[in-house]
Amino acid sequence: MLFLVLSGCYGEDDKSHHNIEEKNNYILQLSSSEVQIREPNAGYSLNDVDIIKKGNDLLVIANGTPRILSNPLVKIEGFIYKVLGEVQPFSNAFIETDIILSDESEMAFIEEQPFFNVKITEFKEDVNKPLEWPKPSSFNIEQYNNEILAIKSLSNDTRFVRHLANYIHDYDKKRDIVSLYKNNYLPNCSSAEHRTVDIKGDNLNFKSKDTDTTVNKLFSYLLHAPSAIYHMYAPSPDNNIVGKATIGNGWLGMKERAMYPYGYRGFNGFLHEKMHNHGFNHSGGMTSGLDQVIPKYYENNWDNYFDHTFQVNRSYPILISSKSDNNGFVFEFFDKNQTITNVELNEFIIAVNQNVEILKVVLIDDSNNKKVIAPNDSGIIGDSKILFFNGAFSVIPSKLNEKALSKLYLELGGTYNDKSGIIVMATSTKHPEVQAAIFKLIGGEG
Ligand SMILES: [Zn+2]
Repeated sequence: MLFLVLSGCYGEDDKSHHNIEEKNNYILQLSSSEVQIREPNAGYSLNDVDIIKKGNDLLVIANGTPRILSNPLVKIEGFIYKVLGEVQPFSNAFIETDIILSDESEMAFIEEQPFFNVKITEFKEDVNKPLEWPKPSSFNIEQYNNEILAIKSLSNDTRFVRHLANYIHDYDKKRDIVSLYKNNYLPNCSSAEHRTVDIKGDNLNFKSKDTDTTVNKLFSYLLHAPSAIYHMYAPSPDNNIVGKATIGNGWLGMKERAMYPYGYRGFNGFLHEKMHNHGFNHSGGMTSGLDQVIPKYYENNWDNYFDHTFQVNRSYPILISSKSDNNGFVFEFFDKNQTITNVELNEFIIAVNQNVEILKVVLIDDSNNKKVIAPNDSGIIGDSKILFFNGAFSVIPSKLNEKALSKLYLELGGTYNDKSGIIVMATSTKHPEVQAAIFKLIGGEG
């Protein structure tokens, strides 16, 4: 979700007009909540979260996803507010406020975990083959939700994304190793059943294919939301296929025993099938290969990661805000929790796609001193469109709505179109639980 910080938001002049907000320290409280009315088999989009004005002093956060939103952030009239509490899955949470709201008040939910998107049309049977593709049970839907939430949590982790980008970049060099594995693995996914079904008029942003560049594949993984009907797959007992999916939008079906909590030993079948929905086949490493990267990564870094899928929200997130400048883009960092003193963000990823070029990365301190920074030697991949900075500089995030202590300025070149964007992610070596992530479209509506 996009948001722009209006210029002048942090100026002293503006603040004097917002005494109520200052007094409340930009904190809002949840007053009550209600479960959304929906069909048990209804699908969802993983970024379907909205903030809506319900009255002159009443707001609602409508969470149409299985995510738990912990202390979410909303933006009202250019100021960022932290909402204390948890918004439960598929529920509306109400906020009573003394902020003066008009029909023209600008408000937006701030997406702190923008990466890994899913658009499920419906959980249903295939009416033509109901025995092979029965209707998913409520347990099966929970299995899908658990897999999706766990992968989303992982996909918004800076170090994992660095690992993933390197994996995609190195894939061609390691093709022989992966092919060896692939030959043993292929019977598990019936490519014969693959067919391309593209739904017209669908949002095909960030769609990619096996022959695309590293950065386009990375953007597809992180941002593309293929739309698919989710079936359950019920093959005969002697059939070892774990799932099937269309190449591109259409449908996806997994065998119950191949999913949470039974699966996850060696490879992730669901991710393999979802990557087929992204448009990838078996030749580019985004299906066979990538499905091993996640289980291996979590086993090496987080023991039993998938056994804790409900911990999908970081305990200590930091928000990146972006502001466009004349020749480039400024990114500022805010810490919504302030529970660690002077936490230093010192590991960064900056990536651009399409024909955008990164010309210069500049650190600007609070006295407006500018320092051009270069990525580590091993930190430039994907035709110089993905940069890693590991200890090259650090940023201490500021409090919500306060003047940034230091900020990142990106000078960009090349040409933009309506699918051009920037990814910025950051974490702290000392506190890897601290994570910041943003995606900003820079072409088109900008
Ligand atoms: Zn496959």
